[in-house]
Amino acid sequence: MRVLLVEDEAALASALAEHLELQGMAVDSFDKLRLADGALRTTEYDLVLLDLQLPDGDAIPWLKQQRQQQLTTPVIILTARDQISDRIAGLDAGADDYVIKPYDLDEVSARILAVTRRQSGLATNEVEYGNLSIDLQRRHLALNGERVELTAREWSILETLIKRPGHVISKEQIEDRLYAFGHEVESNTVEVYISRLRKKLGREQITTVRGLGYRLDTETA
Ligand code: CA
Repeated sequence: MRVLLVEDEAALASALAEHLELQGMAVDSFDKLRLADGALRTTEYDLVLLDLQLPDGDAIPWLKQQRQQQLTTPVIILTARDQISDRIAGLDAGADDYVIKPYDLDEVSARILAVTRRQSGLATNEVEYGNLSIDLQRRHLALNGERVELTAREWSILETLIKRPGHVISKEQIEDRLYAFGHEVESNTVEVYISRLRKKLGREQITTVRGLGYRLDTETA
């Protein structure tokens, strides 16, 4: 999952980014709305985490404008403002949820999972594909009823495939979800993770579509 974090308090931003990266998310962190603008134009994000007061402006009118320009990415507001009117203004401007500072890091990740799941059209956190049962919120995976352990990166790839079952996801789309700006990507990284996932889930679950990418097959024998 690729996350855009817009937060100007450096300590808060780095603690949050580090926490999310440990869970396999790729986080691009910016301290100004102007920089967030540029990132949104060039990169497809799964989620935006948005502080309300940035050095170059108030994020509420900024968000309203992004929504008017058809930004559909889910947005969670990070706010120290405890006034109900501010929260309502944020939701009115097009935020999907908000977290009040000081927040608990685990609460932020739980909100992220809930909001992105709703966005992807999955009705619940528990998904069944053939002989796989997946609990996205608790990150539990079972194959034929047996628990399978995945690393954070393996989860991140599986989540990317699950959110578009039956669709081909390109190697580049997967890389975008694994790495933030400035991270070196080894050319065969995606292949390595896909091969590890196949070892754990069974070869037939993930199909390689030559020249195009990978697909999670929803019909398995
Ligand atoms: Ca701020």
